[in-house]
Amino acid sequence: MKKTPVILIVEDNPKNRRLVNDILESQGYDTIQASNGREGINLARRQKPELIVMDMQMPEIDGLQATRILKSDRATSHIPIIALTAMAMKGDREKILGGGCDDYLQKPVRFDTLTVSVQKWLGKQGDGSLASRPAAKKESGP
Ligand code: MN
Repeated sequence: MKKTPVILIVEDNPKNRRLVNDILESQGYDTIQASNGREGINLARRQKPELIVMDMQMPEIDGLQATRILKSDRATSHIPIIALTAMAMKGDREKILGGGCDDYLQKPVRFDTLTVSVQKWLGKQGDGSLASRPAAKKESGP
């Protein structure tokens, strides 16, 4: 039996955190949540989620710093990280992907782009969890 993928949501804004959580839960994923980068790093180390959805703009340890820390740690470097950002400046994409994030989604978070990206990155881990998941929505393209 395949384990239900666990997705860690790291987002300081409660409304956005709930939105992302509701979308992922509607797709049958288990979620854990952190409201800042430090808590996110600790949860990732303890619980080893299959995927992380990471807000970039957070106080104290921001998403890019947290990503660098997780990607430089052999215990967590394999976990795909999808960045959420409100930034829309030229060069942000390069900065975020160059900083170790695997994917990059602009806010506002949209159901289709989030679920397509999540399915894509969970599928890349090769655990076959996509095909065997009845709750998963069919891919409709980005
Ligand atoms: Mn934020």
